Amino acid sequence: MQDQLRTRYELHQVQSGSMPWQQSKGKQVLWIGCSDSDYDELETLGLQPDQVLEYRNLGNMVTDDLSCRATLGYALEQLKIREIVVCGHYGCHIVQGSPNPGLPEPWSKNLDVVRSQHTHRLDQVSGQERDRTMVELNILGQVQNLSQAQNHEVKVFGLVYDRASKTGYQITEAAC
Ligand SMILES: [Zn+2]
Repeated sequence: MQDQLRTRYELHQVQSGSMPWQQSKGKQVLWIGCSDSDYDELETLGLQPDQVLEYRNLGNMVTDDLSCRATLGYALEQLKIREIVVCGHYGCHIVQGSPNPGLPEPWSKNLDVVRSQHTHRLDQVSGQERDRTMVELNILGQVQNLSQAQNHEVKVFGLVYDRASKTGYQITEAAC
């Protein structure tokens, strides 16, 4: 039952000014993005460079490694950042519906776990749609993991970016 609930989510287009941090100044967002995006998400979504502590890795994953732990610690404890964005993107070469044999650990294993958790949903779609669904599920999984690991003061947002249309969508769990 839990897994079924976790796969229900909605996408809402991010409008100018619809995200809470765009009204204030100073570093206030930890941005966890993907290394192979084309790096234009922040500009398109209206985030100023001085508002963002940017961290990127393969597939915008929150991994249990020194770099990721140190970045989270620095953002939350030193900069007192209280808003984290996990932003994936359509057309990702890392996060795909089928395993990428060139991907190292732990990234390949993390994605295998997402695929196995959502086999039923992924099997309902194919091709590009399957890749896009996997991108969304991966973001949702990272958001859920991060949210559980942080206290309630920290808000975690999941975004997916569509470069073709220069549009961002917020991913939220659907009410059941
Ligand atoms: Zn990517």
